Amino acid sequence: MKKKFIKAENISFKCKEIPLTRRELKNILNYRIPCLCCGMEMLHPDIYTRLLEDKRLCSRSSEAVKVLEPFENIMHPVERQVFNMFKSLSEKYPDKNFQELLLMKKDIHELALVKIQSSIFNKISFYRRILPKKSARALRKLIIRTNDIIFDPEPHKPFSRRIFIHKLKNILKNLENPKMKEDIITIARRLPRSSDEVCAFVVKNARKHPEVIALNLVHPSVGTFEHLQPKCMRGMNNSLNFALECSYCNNSRHHYPLAVQIEENPYMPENAQNQINKLISLCKKNLCKKEYVKNLTATLKELSYDMIDLDISALED
Ligand SMILES: [Zn+2]
Repeated sequence: MKKKFIKAENISFKCKEIPLTRRELKNILNYRIPCLCCGMEMLHPDIYTRLLEDKRLCSRSSEAVKVLEPFENIMHPVERQVFNMFKSLSEKYPDKNFQELLLMKKDIHELALVKIQSSIFNKISFYRRILPKKSARALRKLIIRTNDIIFDPEPHKPFSRRIFIHKLKNILKNLENPKMKEDIITIARRLPRSSDEVCAFVVKNARKHPEVIALNLVHPSVGTFEHLQPKCMRGMNNSLNFALECSYCNNSRHHYPLAVQIEENPYMPENAQNQINKLISLCKKNLCKKEYVKNLTATLKELSYDMIDLDISALED
């Protein structure tokens, strides 16, 4: 027998027509649209595809800098800082490629990163005093192994924040005190990611090919179709369920519900209003459709439990 679990949010847009084709929606990214979630201006994916084929990105840094310069204003904050570092280094060492330049800076950034990481591991270790014996022992083991990795200048495998948090959650999964569990995970989440600390970006990318490093400076800004209702929750695969979001925000949401995304991005309602204002101005030039704006507004309101309640009165002016 077929399982019956159609969500209420799906039913309401079921009989509507699809307002924009994929191509039409993608076209909108030609007009400096801010990301629904973080509000940063997005890059059209076709421009990124052309960059993928640009051989100058793996050559001398002076060449690669020239290719990337037009994209500096849409880079996310950490990526822009790293790009500025490349700009000044390439004046001194124009013949070195991006990887060679990062390797010159790796040691100093790795030290800075290890300092931040070890202070976080210390904070987590304090919980050994109050955790049940079995969990405390497992936590001790995990921290010892992790310290072995981060204090080794040439570790067998680099430290992975994602794997560490996964292992930590496993250790804590049977804990009876949910508050303590949450506190420990919250501390672990402060471990730097390459998207929020320059030192983590440098360490993570220094092992990569020069063209990959260059593309990683731009990639978070590429515009994508975000499934408002996640695919795994039977979200539709068309513009009735698509919002324009940068690749960084889309990837960081995973398959979580919209409400969780708003919790982690408290400015999302304001940023969504900025995007809708831009879309309304495009409707007036016949570059977007009113039906898309109306459906997007209704879908966001419903899936966010009214946390995103956009003003589209200008649509009818
Ligand atoms: Zn974004």
